[in-house]
Amino acid sequence: MWRIMSKRGNRKMARKFNVAVAGATGAVGQMMIKVLEERDFPVASIRYLASERSEGRELSFRGEKVVVEKLGHDSFKGIDIALFSAGGGRSLEFAPSAAKAGAVVIDNSSAWRMDPDVPLVVPEVNPHAVAGYTTKGIIANPNCSTIQMVVALKPLYDYAKIERIVVSTYQAVSGTGQKAIDELEAEVKQWAAGAGQGKGPKGFAGEFDYTAYPYQIAFNCLPHIDVFSDNGYTKEEMKMVNETRKILEDESIMVSATAVRVPVFYSHSESVNLRFSKPVSAQKARELLSNAPGVKVVDDISNNVYPMPLDAEGQDLTLVGRIREDISQDNGLDLWVVADNIRKGAATNAVQIAELMAERYLS
Ligand code: NAP
Repeated sequence: MWRIMSKRGNRKMARKFNVAVAGATGAVGQMMIKVLEERDFPVASIRYLASERSEGRELSFRGEKVVVEKLGHDSFKGIDIALFSAGGGRSLEFAPSAAKAGAVVIDNSSAWRMDPDVPLVVPEVNPHAVAGYTTKGIIANPNCSTIQMVVALKPLYDYAKIERIVVSTYQAVSGTGQKAIDELEAEVKQWAAGAGQGKGPKGFAGEFDYTAYPYQIAFNCLPHIDVFSDNGYTKEEMKMVNETRKILEDESIMVSATAVRVPVFYSHSESVNLRFSKPVSAQKARELLSNAPGVKVVDDISNNVYPMPLDAEGQDLTLVGRIREDISQDNGLDLWVVADNIRKGAATNAVQIAELMAERYLS
């Protein structure tokens, strides 16, 4: 199995690559740039692309100035690897141009994920799938909530087939992008400064202008991520259903998801209930997860030790705790899974795919 490269432990590749980051000014784009630097990705040149609002803005890479250019169909001449995080519409419009120009596109949006000709890859789980990139020249990064869940599930699935997953998410506002990070911060500051204090039964309902969400997010939880589908689930919830099946290459897994936005800045948490085809003890699950790539078991309830978003923030491991056998059904297990949605849920996973491509196919 392909060995996951350790943080900063990138094996030296002879070749260097011309890289473009589309969406370089956004929450994920900024983090992809940081992760490329941290992991010492072999970059020969880098190009930053964003909307015309950011054209001419000066950012940096490894201490050198990089001027942001407007994303266009002709942005990819000479580019080897194009990392996209500029939204689904831009991915649909511009990823084919990048691929046509000879770049391998690694896309963070949902635009291409369920295309049968586009691999959907989590390097710890299905690294072999990158081989399918040749048809369209595009590789999709899964949804942030799906990535951390499948990293935790894969070692268990290899031991005992998973028949059913019931997952509830507690998703950070950074999953919505920079504007939502700013909105939560602004609401908390305005509330602390007196705006709306005393409104609502307990005084926590503010008088804010919501733009990122339909309601105030500070001191609140919104069981509504992405748009509602005809079946009553949201698109975010259906992504967890469909992407999990595609990545684990098992259409028979039953998944029911409830995705909830919570007033946390970084890192998604998930309560995951599983039913296996045979018993999996909590002890066995702990052992399997302790040896799994990309996973850290944080599970010592006698000392109040369990994963929390503040622990996961800023690092790349998927933290798993509260591992226990489900008392309500045979062959059931419960987990609590936490990871940094901007890093492992987006930027780090994308850069790991780039490393995989660089090592296996582009060198
Ligand atoms: P964000 O902070 O809002 O950033 C959006 C980026 O897209 C900015 O660089 C923006 O440039 C650029 N952009 C917007 N409209 C554009 C246009 N017309 N042409 C060129 N560039 C344009 O959003 P984000 O959180 O980084 O998310 C970006 C993508 O990654 C989305 O598809 C999202 O679904 C996906 N994703 C996000 C997460 C997460 O946890 N945040 C996880 C997985 C996947 P300007 O600054 O110039 O507007």
